[in-house]
Amino acid sequence: MDEEIFKALPQLLLPWYARSARDLPWRRDREPYHIWLSEIMLQQTRVEAVKSYYARFLTALPDIQALAAADQETVNKLWEGLGYYSRARNLRRAAKEIVERYQGKFPADFTAIRALPGIGDYTAGAIGSIAFELPTPAVDGNVLRLVSRVTASCVCVDDAKVKSEVRNALASVYPAGACGRFTQSLMELGATVCIPNGTPDCAACPLRTICRAMAQGVQLQLPVRREKRARRQEIKTVLILDCDGSIALQKRPPHGLLAGLWQLPEAPGTLSPSQALTLLESWGVKPQDILKQVEKNHIFTHVEWNMTGIYFRCAQKTPQFTWATPEELERVYSVPTAYRQFLTERTI
Ligand code: SF4
Repeated sequence: MDEEIFKALPQLLLPWYARSARDLPWRRDREPYHIWLSEIMLQQTRVEAVKSYYARFLTALPDIQALAAADQETVNKLWEGLGYYSRARNLRRAAKEIVERYQGKFPADFTAIRALPGIGDYTAGAIGSIAFELPTPAVDGNVLRLVSRVTASCVCVDDAKVKSEVRNALASVYPAGACGRFTQSLMELGATVCIPNGTPDCAACPLRTICRAMAQGVQLQLPVRREKRARRQEIKTVLILDCDGSIALQKRPPHGLLAGLWQLPEAPGTLSPSQALTLLESWGVKPQDILKQVEKNHIFTHVEWNMTGIYFRCAQKTPQFTWATPEELERVYSVPTAYRQFLTERTI
């Protein structure tokens, strides 16, 4: 790693950050619970989308004690639509651990923070530096891109060794008393100037005087990434069963994708309406009408669901399902977006 370039980062980034930082709700204080919650929500999710979730979550569960005491259904409901629901489960588990082991006070030590459920090196580094002023870098894709451009490094940033080298190099230049701001300045520059998709705004960049990628004109070739594997395709038929306005739901298994959330009944493969009808009858459901059919898809990190949704009107609320009223769908049951998109289509 290039020492001179790393040494120059704090003095170039901190004044720029003081001028250019966006006013984000989680930047208004240094409460560890707020920093933690925002960092978890921001993983894989856009800042604009997180803002309303963050406010709603804190209104419902204003502190670690409240989160630890909440049931998982409540937390899932607050998380509904954000995706990656294991984050919501780990948040609650970690809150319980903080209450049990640390009397409800967030630990101010990197190793203890890192050991909490759902907290990896990046999040521990962010909380450590922003909430507790520890010299603990938070290295994610944004920071790797930035470092790889400013140093014009051609090594593949998906290599775990590179991440730890960047972490060590940054840790050695963390400015005492400004650790939190330094972490946030790196995040901010990666999110707003040295952007991932599209041309980086080098003219507005505080690192332009030292940036080797800019000097060499290779910004868009960096960082070097491993080729992504294609997503697995899964084909399924989703059955939207409506009985007097209530919709049939089933709870998903406690492990795996969307664990413990609520789903619509489904079957593998693409069924025609008459095949779906036969299947429902084999389940003891006797629909009155087939209402309509729609096609939807939903993309997860490693898999894509291609779904045919078939809508049925039913006369009876058969007991193998939980029948949710529109009000309960709104307030009680956490139905992930993959399934919920069929409910917004409902015209029954
Ligand atoms: S000068 Fe351009 S490529 Fe270099 S760090 Fe700044 S925005 Fe990124």
